[in-house]
Amino acid sequence: MTTSNAEQFERAQRSIPGGVNSPVRAFRSVGGTPRFLVSARGPYVTDSEGVEYVDLVSSWGPAILGHAHPEVVAAVQDAATRGLSFGATTPAETDLAELVRERIVAGGVHPIEKLRLVSTGTEATMTAIRLARGVTGRDVLIKFAGHYHGHSDSLLAEAGSGLATLALPASAGVPAATAALTIVLPYNELDAVRRVFADRGDEIAAIIVEAAPANMGVVPPRPGYNAALADIAHAHGALLIVDEVLTGFRVGPAGWWGLENAGPLAAELPEEAPHGGTVPGYVPDLVTFGKVIGGGMPLAALGGRADVMDHLAPLGLVYQAGTLSGNPIAVAAGITTLRLADADVYAALDATALTVSTAVSSALEAAGVAHSVQRAGNLFSFTFGSSRAPQNYADVQAQQAYRYAPFFHAMLDGGVSLPPSVYEAWFVSAAHDEAAIERIVAALPGAAAAAAS
Ligand code: PLP
Repeated sequence: MTTSNAEQFERAQRSIPGGVNSPVRAFRSVGGTPRFLVSARGPYVTDSEGVEYVDLVSSWGPAILGHAHPEVVAAVQDAATRGLSFGATTPAETDLAELVRERIVAGGVHPIEKLRLVSTGTEATMTAIRLARGVTGRDVLIKFAGHYHGHSDSLLAEAGSGLATLALPASAGVPAATAALTIVLPYNELDAVRRVFADRGDEIAAIIVEAAPANMGVVPPRPGYNAALADIAHAHGALLIVDEVLTGFRVGPAGWWGLENAGPLAAELPEEAPHGGTVPGYVPDLVTFGKVIGGGMPLAALGGRADVMDHLAPLGLVYQAGTLSGNPIAVAAGITTLRLADADVYAALDATALTVSTAVSSALEAAGVAHSVQRAGNLFSFTFGSSRAPQNYADVQAQQAYRYAPFFHAMLDGGVSLPPSVYEAWFVSAAHDEAAIERIVAALPGAAAAAAS
């Protein structure tokens, strides 16, 4: 017997705040009834009414191989028969740390010398910030407007009235005193960063930056931007924390850092970029991972320079712990996913992303909807109302966001599940085959017409 999504939503709202366990799932920015999913396989998800959709959310990133890949499921089943959680060290955790260290390399440099496993991306960035503060003995953090790093207090801060002024809490419950230790700057420009360091350089523990931002739609960094951030931070004794929770192991085998330092983007560096032409162009002090590293299970990590990482307890004075950190089932899923994510998988992801994003753009163009397509590796998103690619959060906010809800619902009616917000990236998987792509393409003209009206 199937139950309607509407009935499920009503029931959920009686027991769960807003009916959801993470706000975007409530469809607030597109309206309508969230689909209650009961199963997923390959490129498809199925809701509680038995309706199947081509999925372009991919669990917000982890499902690069498609849902329920048989080898990942087998690894999880096998691990489960040996125990669900030990709360003790396991050989597989070291296997994963070694795998990550070996995989992330450019010019013989392995930036992830040591790795600590946690359960969510939020924990990874929260711990990285604590570590940066502990190592430098400084309290102030720089983040960029529109970048999302999870929901710890220091990171739920938004820009105050002027550059470099105290940030304000971005959520009720965040103490003003905590938000005031975060400086929120506009993205993709360096002058503001340089000015703040000139004024307060000896107070700043770290810059945290999304490797390629994808939580305000996709807004790739200008060539050389991340390398310049590393240089500025290091010149003042601060650390650079690169957040690859979303991009890590998704945009390429060594994440965005790999693309910029050993991959296609290295060739695009302008001559004036720091270390332009050398490989690697920059080495982050700390990197955070999540999503793909757990293959769909709750697993995340922070890693980086051994001399920094060794400040974590029990070696150092910076505390971090977790009952489920390095959970054996999550680690089995992560290792199997990373081992399966070979060059063919990344080639498939890149090709599918290009095909789908080009098809969407063509449909919007045919319907007369002005838009821009932003791409960062195989991540992509669209901005409505102008063909000028946004460079920062203010640009993204200036778009005709109202065009997305009708587009989204027309796609859903056509059997395609998109992220329920215009501020999110779209996620393909290596399992999106011709049939799945055909279904997406078939739904596009109607959706583009809906966006036009
Ligand atoms: N950092 C980035 C770049 C993210 O995209 C996210 C989640 O979307 C996080 C951190 C937080 O990860 P989690 O949702 O696992 O806490």
